[in-house]
Amino acid sequence: MNLKKPRSRSIYRFGSQGVDGDGRMQQELGGKGAGLAEMTKLGVPVPPGFTISTSVCRFFLEYGTTPEGFNEELEDAIAWLELEQGQGFGNEESPLLVSVRSGAPVSMPGMMDTILNVGINDANVSGLAAKHQSMRFALDSYRRLLQMFGSVVLLLPKAAFDGAMEDAKHGSDQQLDSEFDEVALRRMVASFHEIIERHTGHTFPMDPRAQLRQAVDAVFQSWNNERARHYRRIQGIGENSGTAVTVQAMVFGNYGRNSGTGVGFTRNPSTGQKELFAEFLPNAQGEDIVAGIRTPMSISELERTMPRVYQQLRSVTSKLESHHRDVQDFEFTVQNGELFLLQTRPAKRSALARIRTAVEMAEEGLISQPEALRRVTPADIEEVSSQQLDLSREGLQPIAKGLPASPGSAVGRVALTANRAVALAGKRGESPIILVRQETTADDIHGMDAAVGFLTARGGATSHAAVVARGMGKCCITGASGIMVDDARGLLRIGEQTLREGDWLSLDGSTGRVFLGQLDLCPMGPSDNPWIDKLLSWARRSAKVAVRANADTPQDAIRARDARATGIGLCRTEHMFFAPDRLSQVRAMILASTSEARQRALDSLLPAQQADFEELFREMSGLPVTIRLIDPPLHEFLPTELAVTVELARARHEKMDREIVGPLEELLTRVQQLSESNPMLGLRGCRLGIVYPEILAMQVTAVMRAALTVEAEGLVPKPEIMVPLVACVEEVHNIRKLIDRTAGEVFRSAGRTIAYRVGAMIELPRAAVCAGTIAKELDFLSFGTNDLTQMTFGFSRDDSQKYLDTYLELGILKQDPFLTLDREGVGALILFAVQQARQANRQITIGVCGEHGGDPASIEFFHQIGVDYVSCSSARIPMAQLSTARAALSTLAAAPLLRETLSGVSIASR
Ligand code: ADP
Ligand code: MG
Ligand code: MG
Repeated sequence: MNLKKPRSRSIYRFGSQGVDGDGRMQQELGGKGAGLAEMTKLGVPVPPGFTISTSVCRFFLEYGTTPEGFNEELEDAIAWLELEQGQGFGNEESPLLVSVRSGAPVSMPGMMDTILNVGINDANVSGLAAKHQSMRFALDSYRRLLQMFGSVVLLLPKAAFDGAMEDAKHGSDQQLDSEFDEVALRRMVASFHEIIERHTGHTFPMDPRAQLRQAVDAVFQSWNNERARHYRRIQGIGENSGTAVTVQAMVFGNYGRNSGTGVGFTRNPSTGQKELFAEFLPNAQGEDIVAGIRTPMSISELERTMPRVYQQLRSVTSKLESHHRDVQDFEFTVQNGELFLLQTRPAKRSALARIRTAVEMAEEGLISQPEALRRVTPADIEEVSSQQLDLSREGLQPIAKGLPASPGSAVGRVALTANRAVALAGKRGESPIILVRQETTADDIHGMDAAVGFLTARGGATSHAAVVARGMGKCCITGASGIMVDDARGLLRIGEQTLREGDWLSLDGSTGRVFLGQLDLCPMGPSDNPWIDKLLSWARRSAKVAVRANADTPQDAIRARDARATGIGLCRTEHMFFAPDRLSQVRAMILASTSEARQRALDSLLPAQQADFEELFREMSGLPVTIRLIDPPLHEFLPTELAVTVELARARHEKMDREIVGPLEELLTRVQQLSESNPMLGLRGCRLGIVYPEILAMQVTAVMRAALTVEAEGLVPKPEIMVPLVACVEEVHNIRKLIDRTAGEVFRSAGRTIAYRVGAMIELPRAAVCAGTIAKELDFLSFGTNDLTQMTFGFSRDDSQKYLDTYLELGILKQDPFLTLDREGVGALILFAVQQARQANRQITIGVCGEHGGDPASIEFFHQIGVDYVSCSSARIPMAQLSTARAALSTLAAAPLLRETLSGVSIASR
């Protein structure tokens, strides 16, 4: 065994004769010890004491004993504390009493142990009573010591003591601990001694030094108790630091009416409001408040009964707050009208409070604006922005759980089909509907529009339902296994329960929990939160990466503008096609057998598309609007083969006219022709425009005419046309020619031109590899990270959830790559592409428009590799704005890989 003395000292003192440590020494002194040292230095009234360093704890846990020389150091420290207090440890007339307190470098509130009143024994209890002129007080302190020593050091069950205390209560007419009289307390002391002896076979140690040594060892050991281990596991706190132990002279809140103990915060920890928020318990010692045996008074009681102490508490704690430049959580004790601080630490607080205190402290000049931005996390913004279910009802249990795909909450009646959702919602949507589906298809879009929230049994967080829900700012839970939709019979089975259409359900989109019945909603939006507004205005100034919105409709655009998006980074035109009044024309276009028939259908679609674009340009005047040409496989617009077959069979069975049967036969043939075994790798994206140039020409015509119209109104449209699913530069050549020719025709017939930009979505690995050549031909590139992730991993984004769950469980994947960008693989492709593109075209603008554009961890990466913008659904814009600022302020340099590969690349047009 190696018992060499640790290099550094083991014990640090704090008192009127000097302070060895300070607030920065949390590693050695723990948060509590460091805080006490710092408070003493500041002249805050703190009982003197000393802190045994965490290094001694580590040594103790390893070797089962303290390092050489430690005992002498401890003796010196005790002698020093005796001198400070003018008392003697074990002295019969004037005994020194101490607390033995745990305190790790990272705060673990209540997880380890503390023992009060160490130093009392049978011989000095009368002296203690005489000195304080209260036998009741001395006995109360003694029974507390026996109780805590018994449970913490000797590991006796707490219940053993509680029973004896109940008996003592029954013997007298007192109900509260603070009201035990001398007789009852004497009885308790005697029976606690007995309990200890009975359980351990030993008597309670009367020697104060033995008490102290055992208490210190027990606190060391409490680092490894089950509670503490569990807490560290869930909080991700390391196992290695160990705890410090602070030995501190006692002050007594249980000394009578003029005494007490309290806990408080310098600002309200749930709302963030600047007000002293504290509770006080008269005639008690610290642990009574936490244990909840007695209901504390509000601090205004202290103000009334001890105004001088109250004023002093205010001024001391606000001094602590200014000194630490953060909200403090403090513990204090009043002994006979004299105030002592016993602890201070940064306060844990709600998301709302975190935002408000950060902003207000920056405005007060206490912290800088960048510091305020660092203190608030994107998750805080998300939590505060969404409507929340009132989950305070007792015994509330979720009946199902799925993926929290879109935040917010929804309470509504169940509808099992899109049409039923529309019907049940009523004309003006007066009845809130939750659309519950086994899975969602494009056909459901009108039902989604009518509903306030969605629940699906299948699908991941990038599934159609989720993307659309986030775009609409509606709550959505996907992949809720255990749900069975039987829409034929109008039944919904969730576990054991069977629901009918019209029954109430409540969804919590932030956690993915589903509740039966109609829960209340507590509304909370960022628009009525002035602190978020302020914080985000600072964020936008600090960020290097702009935030655009994914917006498909004019309503989306209004939301984007409200959220101060710098443009639309992705408008998916096909979503306009899903509108019920247009779907028939879209189908006619697809089913057309001749190009004349197709042209007719397109001509009828053109005005509607143009009107949509006009509205977008009006809303976003002065800001770029990126319009993606039609992308999905055409079969998505058609009914399924099965549905047509069934209909055809029925028509034939009922011997319907040739007029009905004929078209159905044609439809079936066409649906069969269009069906593909791998539609995601099929006729979609720019391939559609190459095979059916007239579709693309219609869309470009609509864009250019809309831009000209809106410009004539005096506004400033900035159209950007984006080509999806490009694989090679030759596709770009082909399509760019078509776009420029079509635009030219529109301009010629209008007699005017308008500036427009053309870009490509980089969502196939080949395009990423060839981004240099592609960038030469274009004005911008935008990474479609959903498809790029799908194509790079070969994971279908629509039905990979089953094996992804297993992968995540087994740790094969650390994160769902559809939620947080996979830096190693997909990220490397993007990095390579950015580098090649910037080298090839110094003017190129580079953006990201996948779901990852709204994910904080992914945004950090995009910042590091220097993209110009990210685009995400409007609901996630506040989070994204904060994330871009935090990435810019982060002191972490880009990973070496990035710096290396980026060197020599000029980051133009940022
Ligand atoms: P925890 O980490 O569980 O809060 P503490 O070490 O802070 O444990 O102790 C709990 C309570 O015990 C404190 O809030 C305080 O009220 C009381 N206490 C600790 N040390 C002293 C002391 N020297 N004098 C009076 N009360 C004390
Ligand atoms: Mg404490
Ligand atoms: Mg795509």
